[in-house]
Formats: sequence, C-alpha cells, structure tokens
Amino acid sequence: MTPNKEDYLKLIFELGGDKNKINNKQIVSGLQVSAASVSEMISKLEKGGFVKHSPYQGVQLTKAGLQQASSLVRKHRLWEVFLVEHLGYSWNTVHEEAEVLEHVTSEELTSRLETYLNTPEFCPHGGVIPRKNQPIFERTLQTLADYPENTKVRIERVLDEKELLDYLVSIELNIHDIVTIEHISVYEGPITLKKSDQKSLHVSFKAANNIFVTPIV
Ligand SMILES: [Zn+2]
Repeated sequence: MTPNKEDYLKLIFELGGDKNKINNKQIVSGLQVSAASVSEMISKLEKGGFVKHSPYQGVQLTKAGLQQASSLVRKHRLWEVFLVEHLGYSWNTVHEEAEVLEHVTSEELTSRLETYLNTPEFCPHGGVIPRKNQPIFERTLQTLADYPENTKVRIERVLDEKELLDYLVSIELNIHDIVTIEHISVYEGPITLKKSDQKSLHVSFKAANNIFVTPIV
C-alpha cells in the first residue's frame, strides 16, 4: 500500500514536526519510500497548506497540518480502546487494525465511537486521545531510565511500537503497573524492577527509555 497524505502528516507529527523541522531523510526511512516520492508529496502538502517547507532545513506542520494529524491520532486511539475493551485484543496487537481503521472512519462515526466508549482520555498505551477539533497534546513524562534505585513508579505510557509492546508482553510488564526500581546495572545494563506482587523482572535499558512513568511518593 502506498502511504497517502494522511500517513505523511501523521509521521511528520510523530517525528516531532509540530515543534521542529523534520528532514526528508527521516520521512524516507519512516515510510520506506523513495526520496523522489517524498519531495513530490511534500510539495503537494505545502500547496494544501498543511506543512511549511524551508529549503535545506525540512518541513514543519502548519496549524491545519497539526489538526489533520490530530484527527487521525484521535481515530487511531479510539479504535484501539474499542478493540481492547470490547473485542479482547491485547495492547500489542491493536496497532495494525487501528492503522487501517483510522483512514476509513468519518467524523460522525468517530464521535459516536467516543461517546460509546465514555469519552476515554487515553489509549491502551497511555497516549492522550485528542477531543474533536482539538490539537493533540501529549503529556510530558520522565522515563523509567530517569529515576534512581528505590523509586516507586507507575507505568503511564509506552511508545506504540510493535517490537517494544511484544517485549513488554513477554516480560509481563503492563500499563498502570506499579513497580519499584530495585537495581540499575552499570553501563546501561538492565534495570531490575519489583512489582507490587513482589515478582522481580528485568527491563532492558533501551526499553526503559521508551517507558514513561510518574513517581509515587
Ligand atoms: Zn495507542
């Protein structure tokens, strides 16, 4: 499937394009398309008023572009909640389905879905669900790798990334788990956590950098 305009806007957003300029190279590798098709799409998006392109610096989302990306993220995350809560999907298997559904969901269906789900605030990965016509606003949280030993933390959000989610399922670490950081190995080695049921588990340093937490005092 060739990525469409919406996929571009969402990727630019995910790369931080609401605040920073994103270069074409990052888009090429994110969507696995040729540099030529990226340049072509970028000029289309610029004509449509969705991005601003600065030569040699990259592209940044305009207000309209951010709005479009937010609407997609909104649909994506609402479907994720539906799939997990009502169809028994686990949090590492919802992404692909939501990725397809987000492109075929009207505003009307989105609003009804949101009401049906009781206006959830977060997706199963802890990402904020933007409200209708609102720009997305992600929480600023520290990662698991930012805290010292003996800190008790709650898992609030993880990156919506298949490899990471499969890994978290395999070590049985879940969203909203409360864990104590027992031991941090030197040289970016694994971090040992103790769950509230006293079970210990190890999380790789790389994963810890993509797990967002709040400290519990
Ligand atoms: Zn999600």
